[in-house]
Amino acid sequence: MRLFDSHTHIDMKHFQNDIDRVIQRAREADLIGMVTSSIGSGSFRRTIGIIKKYPNFIYHSAGCSVSQLTEDETTKIIELIQKYSKDIVAVGEVGLDYHWIKDSRGRKAQEPLFSKFIELAIELNLPIVIHSRKAEERATEMLEKQFSGDVLMHCFDGAPEIARRVADNGWYITLPSNFDKYRNRIASAKILPLDHILLETDGPYLSPTPLRNEPANIRHGCEALSKVLKLSMEDVAKATTNNAEQFYRL
Ligand SMILES: [Zn+2]
Repeated sequence: MRLFDSHTHIDMKHFQNDIDRVIQRAREADLIGMVTSSIGSGSFRRTIGIIKKYPNFIYHSAGCSVSQLTEDETTKIIELIQKYSKDIVAVGEVGLDYHWIKDSRGRKAQEPLFSKFIELAIELNLPIVIHSRKAEERATEMLEKQFSGDVLMHCFDGAPEIARRVADNGWYITLPSNFDKYRNRIASAKILPLDHILLETDGPYLSPTPLRNEPANIRHGCEALSKVLKLSMEDVAKATTNNAEQFYRL
């Protein structure tokens, strides 16, 4: 089987003491690679070292921590992405967060920063990975107006009508390894065509077990999706890994 973790945060402190063993377990669990998502300028610099250490296995998608983003940090991240664009497979995660940010002024303030990242993806001709927690509709509207490249809605939890719009637009979604605990995500797994679904752990978060989440757990997501779609794990692994290779242009 060939599996792929399309979105994780392997630079985080949760992994700093045993990253080699985590990567080893991922290989033993049939992963052929993973995309790690940096979420700030410090995280970006740590990730540069990590992808050098694990070439052709760990790839870098560069974005931000959406709910904590400032204009200053946006500028820093954009400069880093421009400088190292050859070593990056996507811009993101970037987007809108209505889960942590509840006031309408704070929510509105995220839009110009999100737009800057959209413009950057256009400038560099890179696909874009979207964080749209509780803001799926607004993020979709902004992307439909501004962006015509490849879009991946990471950890997608939108309502079925937004999932249908995402499918119509030819965009991709990722499902986390514990997605079968969420009604919208189960619905999305059935609405999106299988050739537009990727699997992710979002480790160290969203664990399908009581422990820290790590890339080897992508198997749980593969098994859950095979049950929902009534397909073999082999078929789901093959499709989702192909989709990741296609989306990230590996
Ligand atoms: Zn993430």
